[in-house]
Amino acid sequence: MKFAIVSKGDERSNNLKATIKQYLTEFDLEYDKEEPELVISVGGDGTFLEAFHRYIGRLSETAFLGVHTGHLGFYADWLPEEIEKLIIEIAKTPSQIVEYPLLEVTIRPKSGGEEDRFLALNETTIKTAEGSVVFDVDIKGEHFETFRGDGLCISTPSGSTAYNKALGGGIIHPSLNAIQLTEMASINNRVFRTIGSPLILPKHHTCFLKPIVNRSFLIGIDHFTTTYTNVKSIQCRVADETIRFARYKPFPFWKRVRDSFVADDDI
Ligand code: NAD
Repeated sequence: MKFAIVSKGDERSNNLKATIKQYLTEFDLEYDKEEPELVISVGGDGTFLEAFHRYIGRLSETAFLGVHTGHLGFYADWLPEEIEKLIIEIAKTPSQIVEYPLLEVTIRPKSGGEEDRFLALNETTIKTAEGSVVFDVDIKGEHFETFRGDGLCISTPSGSTAYNKALGGGIIHPSLNAIQLTEMASINNRVFRTIGSPLILPKHHTCFLKPIVNRSFLIGIDHFTTTYTNVKSIQCRVADETIRFARYKPFPFWKRVRDSFVADDDI
């Protein structure tokens, strides 16, 4: 099997990367940065997001696995002290593959230029540095509301524990093929009205955001943000592609949620 390792870049993560690389190579696995079948991220959730975006072009051939050297590791299920066990598992046993849904975001410009298409593992956020964002929100071809406020977050189930959670969104199990829209400080009074609750959309219920007031938008896709002007529409839906996680031990989602946010029995 061909593998690659993405490190956070600090000394601890780099040392761990070197150890994993050496051991796996000794077990006759081939290090291949270009076409890996397994990508190991060593660091935190930010490193995992980076690894995902680096290999986004080969999602159907590549599985991901995270080793965490930071604090909260939502995507990183292996601890540095478990490395020898992990290496033996990778070398000797076939992994179980678990697939989680992704979000597809398509940004179309007003003046007929090229559209931009992204996949997000956690979420997209749409904000502006010029006052409030104002856009029509259409769901499945029907006008739903006109949103005015700080912005919107549209997240995947695995991203529901990230930015979405801080906005009061619900936590969704990643076995559900869905996306979630959460508001950032919507303006609600006798004149302006939005639903005010997070919305959970199933696959094929595409959501369109159509700017009414021409602003430049700060559009975040996971850990990177780009400024867009002249946006005609932002289309969000459950992607056809999925992320594939390589599992060598059970790591139930609700245990991860509990360990991260309620109580970690190991601390
Ligand atoms: P960062 O270093 O600021 O990380 C923010 C925190 O989000 C870290 O503690 C990270 O562990 C956690 N995180 C990331 N993905 C998670 C997930 N799926 N479930 C639970 N926690 C998760 O930024 P970064 O490392 O570049 O990560 C970018 C992510 O940060 C974004 O995708 C967004 O979800 C998150 N974020 C959260 C907030 C917030 O909670 N208020 C604000 C901005 C960004």
